[in-house]
Amino acid sequence: MPEGHKTHYLASEHNALFAGETLGVSSPQGRFSADAKKIDGCVLASVRAVGKHLFYEFENARIVHVHLGRYGSFAVQDSPPRPPRGQVRMRWIGSAQTLDLRGPTQCRVIDHETQTEICEKLGPDPLSGGKKSDVFAKVSASGKPIGGLLLDQTILAGVGNIFRAEILFEIGMDPKLPGNEIDPSRFNDLWKSMTKMMRVSLKHGRIISVTSKEAGKPLTQLGNDERFRVYGKTHCPRCNGKISQDKIASRKMYFCERCQRGT
Ligand SMILES: [Zn+2]
Repeated sequence: MPEGHKTHYLASEHNALFAGETLGVSSPQGRFSADAKKIDGCVLASVRAVGKHLFYEFENARIVHVHLGRYGSFAVQDSPPRPPRGQVRMRWIGSAQTLDLRGPTQCRVIDHETQTEICEKLGPDPLSGGKKSDVFAKVSASGKPIGGLLLDQTILAGVGNIFRAEILFEIGMDPKLPGNEIDPSRFNDLWKSMTKMMRVSLKHGRIISVTSKEAGKPLTQLGNDERFRVYGKTHCPRCNGKISQDKIASRKMYFCERCQRGT
């Protein structure tokens, strides 16, 4: 599932490609047809990411709300485009580029009020100025495991299954540690690791937790199986022990029991 770095990356890419353009909007698959009519022929004003949500605001005050979910993806091609292939939920044709969206969990036209409601339910987003103290207040008030709290979008917006595993491994924190047992200094370590990892991942457009020194090559040259330290791995890169898998907040959590103990 795309995590927060990806939505911010897409927002910046789509702003550069389509903001200010009059777009021909359709739904080749049909499921977005009624909403497409509300913005067809309108000018896209701006694109914004909040956590894992994308908001495309048009000059007629309509907003396209997209949540990619686990299977959603965008594809860009030159205009005029080839005929749509597969299940294209939404197609935008701009003067130079065409955008196709396939398989999102959410793609609908909303108004400002609904956008505000969605954003108010989300916790701070570290990639758009979310405050450490606001997140710590929520984490330290909960007895739930930190591995689950990091996935809770009402506590923190943008972190998903890969980031949570990589962040907790980097700082050596047990994913089962209850939020209310984390002191401010350890939370500071977590926040530093998280913001740095998310910024590096935003820059590269994909999640990267290793350093170029560890990988022995520049980050731009990493293969897909070289980007993580624990996620999807069988052995710990620090102690060479076996990586454990456990369900936390109904998602598979990867961690090293030896390197991630207590606080
Ligand atoms: Zn280890």
